[in-house]
Parts: sequence; structure tokens; C-alpha cells
Amino acid sequence: MGSPLTAILDETVTSSAKLEPRPALAELKPVFNGTRMMAAVKKLASEEFEGRGIGTEGLAKAAAYIADELKKAGVKPGGDNGSYFQELRVEGPNGTSEQVKNVIGIIAGNNPKLAGQSVILSAHYDHLGHGWPGGHGRFKGQVHAGADDNASGVAVLLEMAHSLAKSAPERSIILLASTAEESGLLGARHYVKAEKDHPTEQIFANVNLDTIGRADDKFLIFGSSSAREWPFIFMGTTMTTGVKTQLVQQAINASDHTAFLEAGIPAIHIFGAASADYHRPSDTADKVSLSSLMQAATLTKEIVAYLGNRPEPMTVQIKAADPAAAPVATRPGGRTVSTGTMPDFAFSGVGVKISQVSANSAGAKAGLKPGDIITSLGGTPVANLREYSTELGKYSPGDKIDIIFTRDGHILTLELELGKR
Ligand SMILES: [Zn+2]
Repeated sequence: MGSPLTAILDETVTSSAKLEPRPALAELKPVFNGTRMMAAVKKLASEEFEGRGIGTEGLAKAAAYIADELKKAGVKPGGDNGSYFQELRVEGPNGTSEQVKNVIGIIAGNNPKLAGQSVILSAHYDHLGHGWPGGHGRFKGQVHAGADDNASGVAVLLEMAHSLAKSAPERSIILLASTAEESGLLGARHYVKAEKDHPTEQIFANVNLDTIGRADDKFLIFGSSSAREWPFIFMGTTMTTGVKTQLVQQAINASDHTAFLEAGIPAIHIFGAASADYHRPSDTADKVSLSSLMQAATLTKEIVAYLGNRPEPMTVQIKAADPAAAPVATRPGGRTVSTGTMPDFAFSGVGVKISQVSANSAGAKAGLKPGDIITSLGGTPVANLREYSTELGKYSPGDKIDIIFTRDGHILTLELELGKR
């Protein structure tokens, strides 16, 4: 417990790093179509797609749009019965049973010796629709555009379709636009289970794009402890592309890569930056930046091409039945309270560092400020985001809890009345 973030990129690690030189990369200089990526974000986040919520017409329209784009890019269908779709049933907003679809494309690898092996590039395309599942109560009924979360990831996934279809690596690349992520990674888990029951392609690794449209000069990488090679791979991509990354050691597991980790497959989640618009109707397309998409595309292409061509297997280091493999409970039936604060996901010390405090929120009223590091909630120490989230899940709106935190090196205490999510 208390896994403090570790600066992976230290001297010792650097000296033992051994990323194969890849002269081809310098020659390739991939050029991505920024206009096309921005158009995809705008389209997916538009009113027409109704926030891509389960039970909406918009979600099915989004699936059709993504399949159409894959087809235009020249990517072959990878779903059921020769289609781009893999269907599953999930719970809808009013306890109804709804049919939803993963959208899957395959770019066949060009090395027959590696036939049957694949790298999965995933990005969920569903979002909160009109505020379900897990939206803040006061925004119920409004369309949650979900531009950063995760039209941004889908836009880059589609750009990879164009880029990789022209120059396939040795292993097959499977493009998975997953559904029902917001309901608890249901689409991705279904995909992994279906692959296990009927293995068509052995999964080498998963690269998951979620919320990459508003990066602030660097990307955070979650899940990098799942294989020994990840730190070296990201050092390599920084060298070859100049795109900065920071490995996060805390197990957040709040996105689809978790479904792959649960199956023992090395998986990482590329994430841009936390924003106050997270899971709110205000997560709109105008806030997604072209440079963030371009950088994400550059980074993703490098990683996927490397994984697609790497001769040796990855050195998996996922511990069986690791409690850290379970996603943090922020799902339906999860926590109901709000502190009105945004954590700093990249914080490397013990506790939870606050990066933003929403105006008039519970946290603001109690006196919390950006930079405060919370170390105890309601008398229980919290060493990391996981413990913090679990602890908050035990309370109800209106409960008053004591918070111990440090500010400018001083240990302070305050009482916070929890708000409603
Ligand atoms: Zn997401």
C-alpha cells in the first residue's frame, strides 16, 4: 500500500535502457491530418450523437460513423460475422437491457511468423449521454458531449487507422472502439472474454487512449508497471518524437486497459490532463486542442509501431489477484459524495494532492486549496488516490468529516461537509 509515485526515469534505469535503434522512424516522419482529427471530435461530440449514452439513438449512430471511417481508411472488419461490430447487452438508464456494440477493425500484420499475434489499440466511444451512468445529479437531462472523454481518443484511433493501413507492422493491429466503458469497462471486458473463448489473435499488448485532447505539454501513462519494458519504450518515444510522457505509478485503473491487465496482458493508458469539465456537459469540442491531438497521434503511432515490430515478447509483471487490478469505484453504485476537488494524478508523494478546487464546492467552503496534500479522511489515513476514493465511498452527502492535510510543510486539519455528486 501507499505506493508513492516513483520517478522511473532516473539515472540507473537510463543506463540499462536498451531500446533498439529504429532508423526507419526518422525516415517515416508520419504526418497526421489534424483537420480530420478535429472534425472527428466535433462530430462525435455533436448534439446528433446525444452524448453517446447507453439507450440513446446517438450511441448507435456513433458506432455506424466509426465503422464507416474505418472502412474509408481501408481497415478490414474485425467484429462478428465479417462485420465491424461485436454486440453485447448491458443495463440501460432505467434498468432496461440494451444492445450495444464494440466497433473493431483489423490491420493484418506483414510477418507470417508473427501471424496470430496482435496489438490492441483501444479507445472507448461511449459517454454519459444525458447524464447516465454516474453523471453529477445537477446536470441530469443535459447532453454530456464527452469531447475530451473520449471523442479525442477515438479521433486519434481513426487517424491511426489511416496511418497504419498504409504501412502495417509485423504483428496485426486491432483497432477497438469500445462501448459501455462508463458503465464499468463492459465493452472491453466483453472483448477480452470473447477473445479468450475463441482466440483468433494472441494479444501481445494493449495501448488505450482515453482523454487525450487537452494535454498540457505532456501525457500521463497509467499501467506502466505491467511490463518491464514500458519505461524504456516511453524513454524511446520521447527521444524520437519529443512528446513528453510521465509514468504514473498509482494504480488508477479507471479505463479499458484494466480489462487487459485483468487477463494478464501488458496494457497502458495514455491520458492528457484532468479538467474541471470531467463528466460534465461542459466537456465540449471547442476545448480540445489540435496540438494535443497531434502529439497524441505522434506518440501513439510510435508506440504501436514499436510493439507491432518488437521481436521479443514483453516481460509481463502483473501480479495475480493484485487488488490494485480492480478499478476504483467511481461507477454506478459507487460513491455518491463530492468534495469538489480535482486530484493531481501525477503527484508522487504519499497522500492525495489537490490540483483544483471548484468554486462554491464542498472543498472550497471547507477551505481546501490547490496544492494541499490530503493524508487522512475521517480518521483513516489515505496514502493514495485508491484509498482516498475507497474511503469517500463510505460516506453520504451531508456527512461531516475531518480532513488532515499538509500545506506549505505544515500539518493542518479542517472539517468538510461532503456535497452531492
Ligand atoms: Zn473515458
